[in-house]
Amino acid sequence: MPYKFTYDISKVPRFFFTEIALIGYQRGMHKTFLKTLQDIIQKFRIQEATGLNLSDAVVLLQDLINLQAVNLIERGKFLQTKKRALFLPHCARKYMDNRCKAAFDPSIPSYTCAHCSPDCIVNKADCLAKKKGYDVYILPGGSCVPKILKAVRYEGIVGVACGEEIKISGEILGGMDVAGQAIPLIKNGCANTVFNMETLIKTL
Ligand code: SF4
Ligand code: SF4
Repeated sequence: MPYKFTYDISKVPRFFFTEIALIGYQRGMHKTFLKTLQDIIQKFRIQEATGLNLSDAVVLLQDLINLQAVNLIERGKFLQTKKRALFLPHCARKYMDNRCKAAFDPSIPSYTCAHCSPDCIVNKADCLAKKKGYDVYILPGGSCVPKILKAVRYEGIVGVACGEEIKISGEILGGMDVAGQAIPLIKNGCANTVFNMETLIKTL
């Protein structure tokens, strides 16, 4: 399920993400959480950068912070896992039409990257993760997650998606006792989406 709004925080300073991570860590300690969110939105001029109204910006930040908090809680368990997979969203492929040469196998269900474009971030992430021993899936939607996890018993999953999809997949992983690490899209919109490669490298 996508957000009802689109966002692009790819141009917001890196310090924003450090601050988000910090607040994710302190999440439970904030009595004035909403005030903190509004301060960050103002400080990083998120509304000006994204065109989001205040309530949508709050939803987005709240999801990013919760996600960081869950990542931190799960990190220790994840680091102990051996059999891992990376789930990438199909919307981050360079092309969404037949210029993308990835083959789709509905029985998995997943695309397999054919490495047609060196500057495609899905291609880069696919190569990187495979070198580290991950199986890689390029998913058309979060509903594919339970099917894959029932077919192959993974211990750890790194998942890239927008906040809404991550929330749904996180619940599925929790129910199956799989350690998860989530990487949010920094630009959503269901096509030409973007995730941060540095974050992916650190997480893998
Ligand atoms: S590099 Fe892979 S995912 Fe990207 S457009 Fe080509 S086949 Fe598709
Ligand atoms: S932005 Fe990507 S991950 Fe999020 S709902 Fe759309 S297609 Fe799925």
